[in-house]
Formats: sequence, C-alpha cells, structure tokens
Amino acid sequence: MKVAIAGGGIGGLVTALMLHGAGVEVTVYEAVPEPRPLGVGINLLPHAVRELHRLRLLERLLPLGVATEELAYSNRHGQFVWREPRGVEAGYPVPQISIHRGKLQMALLEITRERLGEDAVKTGRKVTGFVPDSAGSIRFHLEDSVTGRSYDEKADVLVGADGIHSAIRAQLHPGDGTPRWSGELMWRGTTVAPPFLTGKSMTLIGTRGRKVVAYPLSAPDAQGNALINWIAVLDNTAQKLPGVEDWNRPGRLQDFLPEFESWSFPWLDVVELMRQSEGTYVFPMIDRDPLPSWTSGRTTLLGDAAHAMYPVGSNGASQAILDARALTRALLEESDPGVALACYEQERLPATAAVVTANRNQGAARILDLAEERAPDGFDDIASVFAPGERESIAADYQRVAGFTPAGLGAGGRPGQ
Ligand SMILES: Cc1cc2nc3c(=O)[nH]c(=O)nc-3n(C[C@H](O)[C@H](O)[C@H](O)COP(=O)(O)OP(=O)(O)OC[C@H]3O[C@@H](n4cnc5c(N)ncnc54)[C@H](O)[C@@H]3O)c2cc1C
Repeated sequence: MKVAIAGGGIGGLVTALMLHGAGVEVTVYEAVPEPRPLGVGINLLPHAVRELHRLRLLERLLPLGVATEELAYSNRHGQFVWREPRGVEAGYPVPQISIHRGKLQMALLEITRERLGEDAVKTGRKVTGFVPDSAGSIRFHLEDSVTGRSYDEKADVLVGADGIHSAIRAQLHPGDGTPRWSGELMWRGTTVAPPFLTGKSMTLIGTRGRKVVAYPLSAPDAQGNALINWIAVLDNTAQKLPGVEDWNRPGRLQDFLPEFESWSFPWLDVVELMRQSEGTYVFPMIDRDPLPSWTSGRTTLLGDAAHAMYPVGSNGASQAILDARALTRALLEESDPGVALACYEQERLPATAAVVTANRNQGAARILDLAEERAPDGFDDIASVFAPGERESIAADYQRVAGFTPAGLGAGGRPGQ
C-alpha cells in the first residue's frame, strides 16, 4: 500500500514514521521548501510520549527538551491554587516533555529521512486538492512552491496533515470557513532566565482572558540559566482579529506588558521574564468546530487539519500523535483502506471533539477561573476556596477527556495539592 501525507509537521512526520515501521510505503509532501525550526515551546503528554518511545525516538528527542515534573497553577497574586506532579514524577512510565516545536519538527524530519530515505519527504510540494479515482486509488494535485508548476500524483490513501488551514479539509468541507477566534491574543517568546519552582515546573498564572504560561525548554547552562518559554494571553475583543493567522508574526511588548506589570512574585518575575525575551510572536487563540466527518473514500484528516484546538491543555501535538497511532493500527488491521479510514475516524473524531470542547472551557485551568471568582483578592487558605476533592476532580476530568489518566497508561499516579 502507498500512503501520501500532505504536511510534514509533527502529525505528518510521526504518521510517516509509524507507517514505515509497520511496513507501509509512505511519502510526505511538505509545502515549505526549506523547513526551519519555527514556533516556540510545546508539550508532549505521556500518552503521546509513550508512542514516541515505541518508535525508539526518546533517546533523540528527550535531550532536546525538558522532562516536566510539575504543573503549578497560581492566581494573579502569585498564590498557588493547585500543584500536581507531571510525567515520571506523577508515576507515569514515560515523561511529559516540554520542547521547542521547531527543534522537534527538525529532529523528526531528520529521523524520517534517515529511516525512510531522503526522498520520502518532498519539500516545496503543496497539496492543493484531490480527485477520487475510479480504480480505487486517489489522485491528488501538487504545486511546486518555488516554480508554481502543477502536477498530479497517485496513492492508495491520502492523509491531510496540513495544519489548521488544511487544503484537504477545505475540499472535504467547503462550508467550513475560517477558524473560530476566542477573542484572546497570545504573545509568545523565549527568554534565557533562571529556572523557577522545581526547575522543571510548568506554571499557569491568572484567569481566562489574562493569563501567563511559562516553562523551561532546556536544562540550566553553566550560569544557571535555562531557556524559558512564556505565553501571555489577553482578551482582545476590542481589537479586530489581526489579519491572516501567522505563527511567525512579530508582536510588541508594549501591547501586553502593561497588563501584567504587578506580576513579579518571589518565585517568578513574570515582568522581567517577558521584558528580557529574545523576541515575541503574536497569534490569535483560534480553533475549529468539530467536523461531522474526516473521511471520504481514501482520504482522511489528521492533527490540526482534523481538530485544531486551543493550546490550553498541552494537547495539540499530543492528539496528532495519538491520531497517527490509531490510523496506523486501522490500516494494519483492515485490508480495505476505505474501511480502515472509517474505523480510524470512528475512534478519533469523537475523542478529539471532546478535547476541543474541553479546551473551550479552559480544560483543567478552570480551577484558576473558579479561584478568581471565589477569592478575587487572594486567600489565606486554599481549603476555604474549594470543596474537598473539587480541584482533584477537575484535573482528573480533563485527564480523562484527553486520554492521559495515569491508570490508562498502566501507572499508579500521584495526587496533586
Ligand atoms: C510554523 C508553525 C509554528 C507553530 N508554532 C506553535 C507554537 O509555538 N506553539 C504551539 O502550541 N503550536 C504551534 N504550532 C502548531 C502545532 O505545531 C500543532 O498544533 C501541532 O503540533 C499539531 O501538528 P500538525 O502536524 O497537525 O500541524 P502543523 O504543525 O501545523 O503542521 C502542518 C504542516 O503542513 C504543512 N502544510 C500546510 N499546508 C500544506 C499543504 N497544502 N500541502 C503540504 N503541506 C502543507 C505546513 O507547512 C506544516 O509543516 C505551529 C505550527 C506551525 C506550522
């Protein structure tokens, strides 16, 4: 069987590696002529890391990032509302990994070429559409991103892993329109700064509409500084959505820093972290409504093309990796590719739609919104703000929806507080 994948992002490349490992012939068509390490930090949750481990990728990928040990939620006064262990610290058999998205994509590209051959990833090739073929295969249109030349190729299966602005999705669902904006903007950056809390902690501070997320992407250097990823989120409904979404659009400190000027806490100086940034990028908080279907005949969707979600619970890349596993399994188990794609969709569409919805409700970060509602001026004792077991139950609910409960991964789990 020949599988063609549109898009050499994290979803497309991991799918290629899995299918190749299962003996399937794969070609990835990536629109960008020379992929560069773009983006800032992302997180890989243990259920996705387990899949990378099965692919024998951990030795290569873990040194590029940090094995996250803790998730710490704080209110805007710097008081901790909830802290939970993460990854191996939480009892999982594999770590949670915080990693630079671009470094991860470049490493996956290198490994894909090593294992599948140089020609398996064709860059500068934009997939512009497809035509179901009478012979049961699929013909798809390609455009050379440099010369503009158009031509067609054939495969047995076409996977649209071409991101939030997927051309394959647009053809499958012409009425789908533009992504949905939450009204928030995210400014993202990285700063060389001292690590905070455990040194491998991820923190969320504030509430919906005014929040900061920060976590290290590297171990400390000889001076004791690490590369810290940060994201500042602000409600921006007064402004119009700033043009076509572009992950590399530069942002300006003065547009968001004043909103956080009192956020200097003994355990993290948020203002200084953002002020010392190597640069900032602005991107709207967007997702897409869950689709009624991903598949038509021998074409299906995967990753952001199928289920773009708010980056609220560290799930974007992780869910793409879970899609890759489910698709590979289905193609191995079913001899008819059309039936395999339908089985894949049946497994993954409802599961990821639930994550999209949970992220619209802030995922487990809902704990922060409740803390603000109930104790806007802070608290002396967090036990007076939440009922016994309430925070645990919100955190566990999100883990269940996103599929990474410790029990689901055969682990005991350690509680938060
Ligand atoms: C440049 C960039 C920077 C990002 N930075 C961040 C970040 O900082 N933080 C974060 O949380 N998420 C970021 N993301 C999104 C994140 O990578 C995804 O949410 C997640 O990893 C799921 O990956 P994916 O492979 O489904 O989609 P993506 O990572 O979006 O990959 C899609 C790939 O398809 C290619 N492509 C697009 N259209 C076509 C086409 N028609 N034909 C062929 N190829 C095509 C794109 O060039 C891209 O390489 C970024 C995405 C991109 C593309």
